[in-house]
Amino acid sequence: MTHDMILLNPGPVTLSQRVRNALVRPDICHREPEFADLQAAIRTRLLAVYGLDDNLWTAPVISGSGTAAVEAMLATLGPKSGRVLVIENGVYGERMSEMAAVHGLDYERLALDWGDAVDADTLTARLKAGGIKHVAVVHHETTTGRLNDLTTIGACAKAYGADLWVDAVSSFGAEAIGFHDLPITAVAASANKCLHGAPGAAFVLVRRQALADTSPAAVYLDLARHEQKQRAGGTAFTPAIPVFYALAEGLAEHAEEGGWPARQARYRELAERVAEGLSTAGVSPMIDAQASSCVLRAFYLPQNRSYDAIHDALKQAGFVIYAGQGGLIKSIFRVSPMGAIHDDDVERLLTAIRHTFSD
Ligand SMILES: *Cc1c(COP(=O)(O)O)cnc(C)c1O
Repeated sequence: MTHDMILLNPGPVTLSQRVRNALVRPDICHREPEFADLQAAIRTRLLAVYGLDDNLWTAPVISGSGTAAVEAMLATLGPKSGRVLVIENGVYGERMSEMAAVHGLDYERLALDWGDAVDADTLTARLKAGGIKHVAVVHHETTTGRLNDLTTIGACAKAYGADLWVDAVSSFGAEAIGFHDLPITAVAASANKCLHGAPGAAFVLVRRQALADTSPAAVYLDLARHEQKQRAGGTAFTPAIPVFYALAEGLAEHAEEGGWPARQARYRELAERVAEGLSTAGVSPMIDAQASSCVLRAFYLPQNRSYDAIHDALKQAGFVIYAGQGGLIKSIFRVSPMGAIHDDDVERLLTAIRHTFSD
Protein backbone atom coordinates (compact mmCIF):
# COMPACT_ATOMS: atom_id res chain seq x y z
CA MET A 1 0.00 0.00 0.00
CA THR A 2 1.33 3.43 -0.88
CA HIS A 3 0.68 6.53 1.20
CA ASP A 4 0.62 10.21 0.40
CA MET A 5 3.22 12.26 2.23
CA ILE A 6 2.03 13.04 5.76
CA LEU A 7 2.67 16.66 6.73
CA LEU A 8 3.82 17.16 10.32
CA ASN A 9 4.61 20.83 9.78
CA PRO A 10 2.21 23.31 11.43
CA GLY A 11 0.09 23.92 8.35
CA PRO A 12 -0.67 23.51 5.57
CA VAL A 13 -1.98 20.14 6.71
CA THR A 14 -2.64 16.76 5.15
CA LEU A 15 -6.22 17.08 3.91
CA SER A 16 -8.92 14.46 4.34
CA GLN A 17 -10.20 13.03 1.07
CA ARG A 18 -13.51 14.76 1.72
CA VAL A 19 -11.91 18.19 1.99
CA ARG A 20 -9.60 17.56 -0.98
CA ASN A 21 -12.57 16.56 -3.14
CA ALA A 22 -14.26 19.87 -2.29
CA LEU A 23 -11.45 21.73 -4.06
CA VAL A 24 -12.65 20.54 -7.46
CA ARG A 25 -16.33 21.42 -7.27
CA PRO A 26 -17.95 23.34 -10.16
CA ASP A 27 -16.76 26.82 -11.10
CA ILE A 28 -19.03 29.50 -9.72
CA CYS A 29 -19.13 33.27 -9.90
CA HIS A 30 -18.70 35.11 -6.62
CA ARG A 31 -21.53 37.50 -7.56
CA GLU A 32 -24.05 34.63 -7.77
CA PRO A 33 -26.26 33.31 -4.96
CA GLU A 34 -24.37 29.97 -4.90
CA PHE A 35 -21.32 31.78 -3.58
CA ALA A 36 -23.35 33.90 -1.17
CA ASP A 37 -24.73 30.67 0.36
CA LEU A 38 -21.27 29.12 0.63
CA GLN A 39 -19.82 32.22 2.30
CA ALA A 40 -22.78 32.55 4.67
CA ALA A 41 -22.41 28.90 5.71
CA ILE A 42 -18.71 29.43 6.46
CA ARG A 43 -19.40 32.56 8.52
CA THR A 44 -22.10 30.80 10.53
CA ARG A 45 -19.95 27.72 11.16
CA LEU A 46 -16.98 29.84 12.23
CA LEU A 47 -19.06 31.50 14.97
CA ALA A 48 -20.40 28.08 15.98
CA VAL A 49 -16.89 26.68 16.66
CA TYR A 50 -16.87 28.56 19.99
CA GLY A 51 -20.63 29.04 20.32
CA LEU A 52 -20.60 32.79 19.66
CA ASP A 53 -23.79 34.87 19.47
CA ASP A 54 -24.13 36.38 16.02
CA ASN A 55 -25.75 39.48 17.46
CA LEU A 56 -22.43 40.29 19.12
CA TRP A 57 -19.82 38.70 16.87
CA THR A 58 -19.13 38.40 13.17
CA ALA A 59 -16.55 36.60 11.03
CA PRO A 60 -15.33 38.41 7.93
CA VAL A 61 -13.45 35.94 5.72
CA ILE A 62 -10.63 37.08 3.46
CA SER A 63 -8.54 35.34 0.82
CA GLY A 64 -4.97 35.19 2.00
CA SER A 65 -2.86 33.27 4.51
CA GLY A 66 -3.06 33.60 8.29
CA THR A 67 -0.72 36.59 8.22
CA ALA A 68 -3.34 38.48 6.18
CA ALA A 69 -5.93 37.94 8.91
CA VAL A 70 -3.56 39.07 11.67
CA GLU A 71 -2.53 42.13 9.68
CA ALA A 72 -6.19 42.91 8.84
CA MET A 73 -7.04 42.75 12.55
CA LEU A 74 -4.28 45.22 13.47
CA ALA A 75 -4.69 47.54 10.45
CA THR A 76 -8.46 47.74 10.99
CA LEU A 77 -8.73 48.03 14.77
CA GLY A 78 -5.38 49.64 15.57
CA PRO A 79 -5.20 53.12 14.07
CA LYS A 80 -6.33 55.93 16.37
CA SER A 81 -7.59 53.51 19.00
CA GLY A 82 -4.98 54.08 21.71
CA ARG A 83 -1.79 52.36 22.71
CA VAL A 84 -1.32 48.65 21.98
CA LEU A 85 1.00 46.46 24.02
CA VAL A 86 2.36 43.69 21.80
CA ILE A 87 3.55 40.60 23.66
CA GLU A 88 6.50 38.97 21.92
CA ASN A 89 7.85 35.53 22.76
CA GLY A 90 8.45 34.16 19.29
CA VAL A 91 8.37 34.89 15.57
CA TYR A 92 4.65 35.66 15.40
CA GLY A 93 4.57 38.14 18.27
CA GLU A 94 7.50 39.96 16.69
CA ARG A 95 5.64 39.95 13.37
CA MET A 96 2.70 41.73 15.01
CA SER A 97 5.05 44.50 16.16
CA GLU A 98 6.35 44.77 12.60
CA MET A 99 2.77 45.18 11.37
CA ALA A 100 1.99 47.73 14.08
CA ALA A 101 4.99 49.76 12.94
CA VAL A 102 4.13 49.57 9.23
CA HIS A 103 0.52 50.60 9.81
CA GLY A 104 1.45 53.46 12.12
CA LEU A 105 -0.15 52.12 15.30
CA ASP A 106 0.69 53.63 18.67
CA TYR A 107 2.32 50.54 20.17
CA GLU A 108 5.02 49.23 22.44
CA ARG A 109 6.57 45.81 22.86
CA LEU A 110 6.72 43.49 25.83
CA ALA A 111 9.72 41.60 24.51
CA LEU A 112 10.61 38.21 26.02
CA ASP A 113 13.04 35.54 24.96
CA TRP A 114 11.60 33.05 22.49
CA GLY A 115 9.89 30.28 24.37
CA ASP A 116 9.66 32.14 27.69
CA ALA A 117 6.32 32.22 29.49
CA VAL A 118 4.55 35.55 29.85
CA ASP A 119 5.02 36.58 33.48
CA ALA A 120 1.81 37.95 35.01
CA ASP A 121 3.71 40.28 37.39
CA THR A 122 5.67 41.91 34.56
CA LEU A 123 2.52 42.31 32.49
CA THR A 124 0.57 43.71 35.43
CA ALA A 125 3.34 46.18 36.28
CA ARG A 126 3.26 47.53 32.73
CA LEU A 127 -0.54 47.76 32.63
CA LYS A 128 -0.60 49.41 36.05
CA ALA A 129 1.75 52.15 34.83
CA GLY A 130 -1.13 53.18 32.55
CA GLY A 131 -1.83 54.16 28.97
CA ILE A 132 -2.40 50.68 27.47
CA LYS A 133 -5.76 50.26 25.74
CA HIS A 134 -5.19 46.92 23.97
CA VAL A 135 -2.99 43.86 24.38
CA ALA A 136 -2.02 41.99 21.21
CA VAL A 137 -0.94 38.42 21.89
CA VAL A 138 -0.23 35.18 20.06
CA HIS A 139 -2.18 32.34 21.65
CA HIS A 140 -0.08 29.42 20.50
CA GLU A 141 3.44 30.64 19.64
CA THR A 142 4.19 28.16 16.88
CA THR A 143 7.86 29.13 17.04
CA THR A 144 8.34 26.97 20.14
CA GLY A 145 4.99 25.29 20.76
CA ARG A 146 4.34 27.37 23.86
CA LEU A 147 0.66 27.97 24.56
CA ASN A 148 0.46 31.45 26.04
CA ASP A 149 -1.92 31.56 29.00
CA LEU A 150 -4.78 33.65 27.61
CA THR A 151 -6.79 33.29 30.81
CA THR A 152 -4.13 34.96 32.92
CA ILE A 153 -3.20 37.52 30.27
CA GLY A 154 -6.89 38.34 29.74
CA ALA A 155 -7.52 38.72 33.48
CA CYS A 156 -4.57 41.13 33.79
CA ALA A 157 -5.81 43.15 30.80
CA LYS A 158 -9.35 43.25 32.15
CA ALA A 159 -8.19 44.55 35.51
CA TYR A 160 -6.70 47.61 33.79
CA GLY A 161 -9.43 48.20 31.22
CA ALA A 162 -7.55 46.81 28.19
CA ASP A 163 -8.96 44.36 25.66
CA LEU A 164 -7.27 41.51 23.75
CA TRP A 165 -6.45 41.12 20.07
CA VAL A 166 -5.41 37.52 19.56
CA ASP A 167 -3.39 35.76 16.86
CA ALA A 168 -4.96 32.32 17.21
CA VAL A 169 -3.88 31.14 13.76
CA SER A 170 -2.42 27.92 15.13
CA SER A 171 -4.89 27.28 17.97
CA PHE A 172 -8.33 28.17 16.61
CA GLY A 173 -10.41 25.01 16.50
CA ALA A 174 -8.18 22.94 18.80
CA GLU A 175 -7.58 24.88 22.03
CA ALA A 176 -9.96 26.54 24.50
CA ILE A 177 -10.36 30.26 23.80
CA GLY A 178 -12.19 32.16 26.55
CA PHE A 179 -14.45 34.23 24.31
CA HIS A 180 -17.13 34.30 27.00
CA ASP A 181 -14.97 35.25 29.99
CA LEU A 182 -12.04 37.26 28.68
CA PRO A 183 -12.01 40.82 27.31
CA ILE A 184 -11.46 39.53 23.75
CA THR A 185 -12.35 41.89 20.89
CA ALA A 186 -10.85 40.01 17.95
CA VAL A 187 -9.29 36.65 17.10
CA ALA A 188 -7.49 36.05 13.80
CA ALA A 189 -7.04 32.59 12.28
CA SER A 190 -6.85 30.67 9.00
CA ALA A 191 -8.39 27.77 7.13
CA ASN A 192 -5.31 25.61 6.85
CA LYS A 193 -4.27 24.83 10.39
CA CYS A 194 -6.52 23.26 13.05
CA LEU A 195 -9.62 23.51 10.83
CA HIS A 196 -7.95 21.20 8.28
CA GLY A 197 -8.82 23.30 5.23
CA ALA A 198 -6.61 24.27 2.29
CA PRO A 199 -4.33 27.33 2.43
CA GLY A 200 -5.66 30.61 1.02
CA ALA A 201 -8.53 31.69 3.29
CA ALA A 202 -8.34 33.43 6.65
CA PHE A 203 -10.78 35.18 8.96
CA VAL A 204 -11.16 37.33 12.04
CA LEU A 205 -13.82 36.70 14.67
CA VAL A 206 -14.55 40.20 15.82
CA ARG A 207 -17.12 41.96 17.97
CA ARG A 208 -19.60 43.77 15.72
CA GLN A 209 -19.33 46.82 17.95
CA ALA A 210 -15.60 47.10 17.32
CA LEU A 211 -16.11 47.31 13.54
CA ALA A 212 -18.68 50.09 13.84
CA ASP A 213 -16.24 52.96 14.02
CA THR A 214 -12.77 52.17 12.69
CA SER A 215 -10.14 54.26 10.85
CA PRO A 216 -8.47 51.53 8.77
CA ALA A 217 -4.90 51.89 7.54
CA ALA A 218 -5.44 49.52 4.60
CA VAL A 219 -7.72 48.82 1.65
CA TYR A 220 -7.59 45.08 0.98
CA LEU A 221 -7.09 44.37 4.68
CA ASP A 222 -9.93 46.60 5.93
CA LEU A 223 -12.19 44.20 7.84
CA ALA A 224 -15.03 46.71 8.08
CA ARG A 225 -15.16 46.86 4.29
CA HIS A 226 -15.20 43.05 3.99
CA GLU A 227 -17.84 42.80 6.67
CA GLN A 228 -20.13 45.37 5.11
CA LYS A 229 -20.13 43.49 1.78
CA GLN A 230 -20.31 40.00 3.29
CA ARG A 231 -23.22 40.86 5.55
CA ALA A 232 -25.16 41.69 2.38
CA GLY A 233 -24.15 38.40 0.70
CA GLY A 234 -21.42 39.95 -1.43
CA THR A 235 -17.65 40.19 -1.40
CA ALA A 236 -15.31 43.18 -1.48
CA PHE A 237 -12.83 41.46 -3.82
CA THR A 238 -12.49 38.15 -5.69
CA PRO A 239 -12.41 35.28 -3.19
CA ALA A 240 -10.39 32.05 -3.46
CA ILE A 241 -13.50 30.01 -4.27
CA PRO A 242 -12.07 26.44 -4.25
CA VAL A 243 -10.46 27.17 -0.90
CA PHE A 244 -13.80 28.38 0.45
CA TYR A 245 -15.43 25.10 -0.65
CA ALA A 246 -12.74 23.22 1.24
CA LEU A 247 -13.09 25.41 4.35
CA ALA A 248 -16.85 24.80 4.48
CA GLU A 249 -16.20 21.05 4.30
CA GLY A 250 -13.41 21.23 6.88
CA LEU A 251 -15.73 23.09 9.26
CA ALA A 252 -18.50 20.52 8.74
CA GLU A 253 -16.06 17.69 9.46
CA HIS A 254 -14.73 19.54 12.53
CA ALA A 255 -18.26 19.87 13.96
CA GLU A 256 -19.21 16.25 13.14
CA GLU A 257 -16.06 14.96 14.85
CA GLY A 258 -16.94 16.75 18.09
CA GLY A 259 -15.62 20.30 17.68
CA TRP A 260 -12.54 21.76 19.31
CA PRO A 261 -12.56 19.56 22.45
CA ALA A 262 -12.42 16.40 20.32
CA ARG A 263 -9.71 17.86 18.11
CA GLN A 264 -7.70 18.87 21.18
CA ALA A 265 -7.98 15.37 22.64
CA ARG A 266 -6.90 13.77 19.36
CA TYR A 267 -3.91 16.09 18.90
CA ARG A 268 -2.85 15.53 22.51
CA GLU A 269 -2.97 11.78 22.08
CA LEU A 270 -0.89 11.89 18.88
CA ALA A 271 1.57 14.48 20.26
CA GLU A 272 2.05 12.36 23.38
CA ARG A 273 2.74 9.19 21.39
CA VAL A 274 5.29 11.00 19.23
CA ALA A 275 6.96 12.57 22.29
CA GLU A 276 7.19 9.12 23.93
CA GLY A 277 8.68 7.61 20.79
CA LEU A 278 11.25 10.39 20.59
CA SER A 279 12.01 10.19 24.30
CA THR A 280 12.73 6.47 23.94
CA ALA A 281 15.10 7.42 21.10
CA GLY A 282 16.87 9.86 23.46
CA VAL A 283 15.34 13.09 22.12
CA SER A 284 14.14 15.67 24.65
CA PRO A 285 11.43 18.32 24.42
CA MET A 286 12.26 22.03 24.43
CA ILE A 287 9.12 23.00 26.38
CA ASP A 288 7.26 20.93 29.02
CA ALA A 289 4.26 19.06 27.69
CA GLN A 290 2.01 21.03 30.10
CA ALA A 291 3.18 24.37 28.70
CA SER A 292 3.00 23.24 25.07
CA SER A 293 -0.09 23.49 22.94
CA CYS A 294 -1.72 20.28 21.74
CA VAL A 295 -0.89 21.48 18.22
CA LEU A 296 2.89 21.33 18.14
CA ARG A 297 5.89 20.16 20.14
CA ALA A 298 9.46 21.37 19.74
CA PHE A 299 12.40 19.00 20.41
CA TYR A 300 16.12 19.51 20.73
CA LEU A 301 18.17 18.08 17.89
CA PRO A 302 20.47 15.31 19.15
CA GLN A 303 24.16 16.34 19.41
CA ASN A 304 25.39 14.05 16.68
CA ARG A 305 22.71 14.66 14.04
CA SER A 306 21.89 17.56 11.74
CA TYR A 307 18.33 18.68 11.09
CA ASP A 308 18.76 17.89 7.41
CA ALA A 309 19.78 14.29 8.09
CA ILE A 310 16.75 13.71 10.32
CA HIS A 311 14.39 15.55 7.99
CA ASP A 312 15.58 13.61 4.95
CA ALA A 313 15.38 10.20 6.64
CA LEU A 314 11.81 10.88 7.83
CA LYS A 315 10.81 12.27 4.45
CA GLN A 316 12.10 9.10 2.84
CA ALA A 317 9.67 7.26 5.12
CA GLY A 318 6.82 9.58 4.10
CA PHE A 319 6.76 12.28 6.79
CA VAL A 320 7.59 15.98 6.60
CA ILE A 321 8.80 17.52 9.87
CA TYR A 322 9.59 21.19 10.44
CA ALA A 323 12.81 23.04 11.23
CA GLY A 324 13.32 25.66 13.92
CA GLN A 325 13.15 29.34 12.91
CA GLY A 326 15.67 32.17 13.38
CA GLY A 327 18.04 31.58 16.29
CA LEU A 328 16.56 28.11 16.90
CA ILE A 329 17.30 26.79 13.41
CA LYS A 330 20.34 24.80 14.54
CA SER A 331 18.98 23.59 17.85
CA ILE A 332 15.39 22.37 17.47
CA PHE A 333 12.91 20.63 15.20
CA ARG A 334 9.13 20.66 15.40
CA VAL A 335 6.39 18.10 14.94
CA SER A 336 2.70 18.92 14.62
CA PRO A 337 -0.15 16.37 14.71
CA MET A 338 -2.50 18.69 12.75
CA GLY A 339 -4.34 17.31 9.73
CA ALA A 340 -6.02 14.09 8.67
CA ILE A 341 -3.57 11.73 10.38
CA HIS A 342 -4.73 8.20 11.12
CA ASP A 343 -3.64 5.63 13.66
CA ASP A 344 -1.76 3.59 11.06
CA ASP A 345 0.14 6.74 9.99
CA VAL A 346 1.23 7.15 13.60
CA GLU A 347 2.39 3.52 13.78
CA ARG A 348 4.48 4.03 10.65
CA LEU A 349 5.84 7.31 12.05
CA LEU A 350 6.92 5.67 15.31
CA THR A 351 8.71 2.96 13.34
CA ALA A 352 10.42 5.62 11.20
CA ILE A 353 11.47 7.52 14.33
CA ARG A 354 13.01 4.34 15.81
CA HIS A 355 14.99 3.71 12.63
CA THR A 356 16.01 7.32 12.11
CA PHE A 357 17.32 7.93 15.61
CA SER A 358 18.97 4.55 16.19
CA ASP A 359 21.22 4.83 13.11
C1 LIG B 1 0.97 29.95 10.75
C2 LIG B 1 0.87 31.12 11.66
C3 LIG B 1 0.59 32.42 11.19
C4 LIG B 1 0.36 32.73 9.75
O1 LIG B 1 1.31 32.27 8.87
P1 LIG B 1 0.96 32.18 7.32
O2 LIG B 1 2.25 31.72 6.75
O3 LIG B 1 0.57 33.53 6.88
O4 LIG B 1 -0.16 31.23 7.20
C5 LIG B 1 0.43 33.44 12.11
N1 LIG B 1 0.56 33.21 13.41
C6 LIG B 1 0.82 32.00 13.92
C7 LIG B 1 0.90 31.82 15.39
C8 LIG B 1 0.99 30.91 13.05
O5 LIG B 1 1.26 29.69 13.53
